[in-house]
Amino acid sequence: MIVYSYTPLLVFSVVIAAVLGAVSGSFLNCAGWRIAHGESFVKGKSRCPSCSHELGALDLIPVFSYVFLGGKCRYCKKKISPRYLVAELIMAALAVMCVLFFDLSFLCLRNFLFISCLFCLSVADLEAFIIPNGTLIAAVAVWLAWLPFSGYGWAEIGLHVLSAAVYGAGVLVLSLIMDKLLKKESLGGGDVKLFFVMGLYLGLVASLFSVMLSCVIGLLFVLFARKKAGEHFPFGPSIAAATTVMLFCGDLLTNAYLGLFGG
Ligand SMILES: [Zn+2]
Repeated sequence: MIVYSYTPLLVFSVVIAAVLGAVSGSFLNCAGWRIAHGESFVKGKSRCPSCSHELGALDLIPVFSYVFLGGKCRYCKKKISPRYLVAELIMAALAVMCVLFFDLSFLCLRNFLFISCLFCLSVADLEAFIIPNGTLIAAVAVWLAWLPFSGYGWAEIGLHVLSAAVYGAGVLVLSLIMDKLLKKESLGGGDVKLFFVMGLYLGLVASLFSVMLSCVIGLLFVLFARKKAGEHFPFGPSIAAATTVMLFCGDLLTNAYLGLFGG
């Protein structure tokens, strides 16, 4: 790995990744929120959610603005939700992990962009129970753009496309059966499409772990975080979290699993 070959390069890469991650966390949190509320995420200035005062450059520095302003708006002194800070810190950490796991490579860039899509759709799903098609289309476009650099042969490309079809169709059939049994909508269409994208990125075996893990995370989420939400609960963030975990350790688990069969 190039990034570990020279300590100053490692430090430089980690710092740049942390800054870029925090900036994109700030942007994605805002974009997810705006999409969920039917607003354009490219047009319009950032405003304080309480007093609607337009925010200046000093208010928009990721992490630092929140910390130095004590988590309060500079104009109306109202408390700002810690979710802004959390979003920036999570994406900063994930960006650093991408560099440490995947080196300075196209795979690193691909995974960071994919994680960004997952993060944005999670915000929108938590906010308004929708998984925006745009985030899924962007994720597929990133995967396609990365293909020429993947080193995949036709067989591997075919396996990943098959995996996408298997998990997308499998979850669709399962959700239709559940709908009939429960007599209500069990999984949203967005969830089904998200499983399709997950299958495309992770392949057949790692996707299996990801599905199981997303069910576990979803269950914990229902038990601890969303008691008050009643019967409606966003599954997208659980699938996104499980997929992110598998991006980092999917190969390890897949090899261990196939090793059980002497493969
Ligand atoms: Zn304010």
